[in-house]
Amino acid sequence: MTQDIDPGAGERRMKRERRTIEAMIALYCRRRHGTKGALCGDCQELLGYALQRLAHCPFAPQKPTCARCPVHCYRPEMRRRIVEVMRRTRKLMFLRHPILTFRHLLDALGGPTKRADRGSG
Ligand SMILES: [Zn+2]
Repeated sequence: MTQDIDPGAGERRMKRERRTIEAMIALYCRRRHGTKGALCGDCQELLGYALQRLAHCPFAPQKPTCARCPVHCYRPEMRRRIVEVMRRTRKLMFLRHPILTFRHLLDALGGPTKRADRGSG
């Protein structure tokens, strides 16, 4: 079951995923909820939840990005919220964090699942 991978790379990947989620939610909160510096209660809850899910991800550290993950470990309400955040911030993230987003996209392209679950919003 072991794969010949660099464990350091997995760790970096997880860190990047965490940073991406933090940046996305912070951006979303600032734009949508008008906060500065700190997240509002809802977004803080969402971020805490996302990081917790990430920490317990059964695919870690070689996981695909959450957006492409074959296992939707988020509970429905949280999933709706994180999908909303991703949708709203996609363009902005690309402008503000091109490298994070670019890598995120690369991860997505390299993931095991095909394009699916694209909302019509
Ligand atoms: Zn917020």
